[in-house]
Amino acid sequence: MQLLRLELKGFKSFADKTVVKFSPGMTAVIGPNGSGKSNITDAMKWVLGESNVRNLRGQKAEDIIFSGTEKRKPMSAAEVTLVFDNSDQQLDLDMTEVAITRRIYRTGESEFLINKRSCRLKDIHLLLADTGLGRDSMAIIGQNRIDAILNSKPEERRLIFEDVAGISRFKINKEDALRRIASTDRNMER
Ligand code: ATP
Repeated sequence: MQLLRLELKGFKSFADKTVVKFSPGMTAVIGPNGSGKSNITDAMKWVLGESNVRNLRGQKAEDIIFSGTEKRKPMSAAEVTLVFDNSDQQLDLDMTEVAITRRIYRTGESEFLINKRSCRLKDIHLLLADTGLGRDSMAIIGQNRIDAILNSKPEERRLIFEDVAGISRFKINKEDALRRIASTDRNMER
């Protein structure tokens, strides 16, 4: 599932419509401090359903809408679209390209769209579940999070890797099964 492009309009420092194309082999976005690199990852997190604005380095919802400059007026809405190549059908939709859009207005209204059709946030979460892009996935890791991983104790780091590898739920199931076996053993003894 290749990421094809990111389209931003009115999101943080991206006042004009900006399209970032992710051609195959692209591995980095570089630029001077404060030029908006982190705003790109913030936009991705947001469109994928991030609901805590603090994780996008803001205080309140409207902080992600272009707030204007000396020469430009603030915008009334922010819109981000992320487009995936879905020819491998990894996303459960019968379409070769999937565009996920999120929009927010200064009035507080917001909406989500999948391929330009209005949907609920839950639909986006369901679409992305088990693709590695769902909630709490490690597909997008902030700079401070890398620091936390490197400085964590081996036991803590192990939990992170197990979570990424998707085996946490098997461990939980195993513990549950062992508890039930122990309980059955006790019943048999009785
Ligand atoms: P660093 O390398 O320090 O992480 P960066 O290149 O990742 O920097 P960002 O932190 O993504 O840069 O961008 C910060 C820029 O975005 C600042 O210039 C800030 O003024 C601008 N910015 C953030 N929110 C808004 C907003 N709502 N409206 C207009 N500009 C904004």
